[in-house]
Amino acid sequence: MAHVVVVGGGLAGARSCEQLREQGHAGRITLVGAESHLPYDRPPLSKEVLIGAADTSTLRVDYDELRVDVRAGVRAIGLRPVDRVLVTDAGQIGYDGLILATGADPIRIPGEGEQLTLRTLDDALSLRQRLRPEARVVVIGAGWIGAEVATAARTRGCHVTCVDLDALPLARLMGSEVGKRLLSWWEGIDLRLGTAVAAVTSDGVELADGETLPADVVVTGVGVRPATGWLADSGLEIDAGVVTDEWLRAGPGIVAVGDCAAWWSRRYQARMRVEHWDDASAAPAVAVAALLAPGLGEVEPHDPVPYFWSDQLGHKLQYVGRHTDQDRLLFREREDGSWTALWLGDDDTLSAALIADLPRENVQAQMAILGGSVLDPHLLADPAVPLTKAVRSV
Ligand SMILES: Cc1cc2nc3c(=O)[nH]c(=O)nc-3n(C[C@H](O)[C@H](O)[C@H](O)COP(=O)(O)OP(=O)(O)OC[C@H]3O[C@@H](n4cnc5c(N)ncnc54)[C@H](O)[C@@H]3O)c2cc1C
Repeated sequence: MAHVVVVGGGLAGARSCEQLREQGHAGRITLVGAESHLPYDRPPLSKEVLIGAADTSTLRVDYDELRVDVRAGVRAIGLRPVDRVLVTDAGQIGYDGLILATGADPIRIPGEGEQLTLRTLDDALSLRQRLRPEARVVVIGAGWIGAEVATAARTRGCHVTCVDLDALPLARLMGSEVGKRLLSWWEGIDLRLGTAVAAVTSDGVELADGETLPADVVVTGVGVRPATGWLADSGLEIDAGVVTDEWLRAGPGIVAVGDCAAWWSRRYQARMRVEHWDDASAAPAVAVAALLAPGLGEVEPHDPVPYFWSDQLGHKLQYVGRHTDQDRLLFREREDGSWTALWLGDDDTLSAALIADLPRENVQAQMAILGGSVLDPHLLADPAVPLTKAVRSV
């Protein structure tokens, strides 16, 4: 393949460049990225960067050594797959293979008032400047990003209010039993649950019941949408992300990776779009193999057990697996106050685990999910029994 173009200079884009060389691609590589920065890691933005412990999080990748032509500050605006042409705001680029890695964009709330979002390094640096002691900060959304922003704002001495539609934190994603356990973590923050926002105004945040929350800074953290608008006329199938098969193939000579990709999971028999670091980091290995070997040969599909983490409110949360409302929830409680929520399927195999403050349990949970062993709920409830040993005896 003579020329591979990677669109999107984030984690998935950077890993794609590395994988292309690692897997023996000898031709040209062009990386087109809308931001003016070289690819960097996003998780530190809402953690170290926001509290001032770091100013950047650039990924350690040597683009010269990889012989990548990096076009930073260039945005893709259209695609003609039949001609194999990418259209950018700096001209057209022909390709033989194309890797789509454009990530996702934050959703905004209606209203004319200033609302900040947190997706890019520039967002983080400008938000950090605004998080001054005593500043009145209203965070809309108590999800992953909202909780991390609220944590940083509290750390920097701001008066923080956080508004969420859910009756309990993370209840929509993790259920109310988990939500109840998270409540005490929010001490020191005015958490307004079950509260709808009508608009962001010049005074602050107007709630649906007519109350206004005055604010010096409003940060919206209500989720993201895949950055695929520019592909609308391309003929590629877009359905809440670039639709791909199990090998992340979106069309002839085109693969999609990371937050913008909606891939088919053989494991879960479902279309997945995982907006997390682990997936953006792992997917390029499969996508590049599929791109370079169109006949696929020995290429394994992309089918990980999803994993992500969040550092929020002085705690570490890790989630591994995928659960549904039909799964049975049980908790492992530990004397130091840390806990693990476990979701079990009908057959008592582990579907997913949410681990609070015990990082090593994540590996055990992953092994239990992958192993598919039938677990004993009584043994599981005993935190002294390792997850992988809580197997039902026959
Ligand atoms: C603040 C923050 C904290 C996070 N913390 C965690 C965490 O703790 N744990 C975790 O598991 N995950 C976390 N994530 C999620 C994780 O960072 C993402 O899943 C990951 O960055 C996705 O990588 P990506 O390369 O697919 O997309 P991105 O990192 O979004 O990169 C996409 C790039 O493509 C560019 N682009 C978009 N459209 C175009 C276009 N048309 N032309 C050219 N370039 C384009 C964008 O500007 C961007 O630079 C966090 C995300 C954020 C924003």
